[in-house]
Amino acid sequence: MEIAIIAHDGMKDRMVTFITEHKDILMRPEINLIATGTTGGRAEQAGFSVRRMLSGPMGGDAQIAGRVAEGKTDLVIFFKDPLSSHAHDADINMLIRVCDVHNVAIATNPASAELFMKAL
Ligand code: PGA
Repeated sequence: MEIAIIAHDGMKDRMVTFITEHKDILMRPEINLIATGTTGGRAEQAGFSVRRMLSGPMGGDAQIAGRVAEGKTDLVIFFKDPLSSHAHDADINMLIRVCDVHNVAIATNPASAELFMKAL
């Protein structure tokens, strides 16, 4: 199972806390983590093995959307910062749309992500 993690700058600390709290699940051998560049770097510092894409503003969200479209990614955990604007809004919306098109689960806030972890 491939899980993508993405966090905007204002949410990166929260993402590190989240994945650390759920490391028993997220470090399982059958789970492959992928991430946008900077989020992935933070996850690596926290001890996770992660395949890092480009940074979000440089196309990382678009790369993850491509993997969703190809059926490679099964779950997206995306801690969006709703209180800041982003140069790559088009890519963010595209990722959410592609998840909807392909019926791939996506959590866009920590409360939803918690529920997905309970399901796993
Ligand atoms: P980042 O990208 O992990 O490289 O910061 C996240 C984003 O802004 O979409």
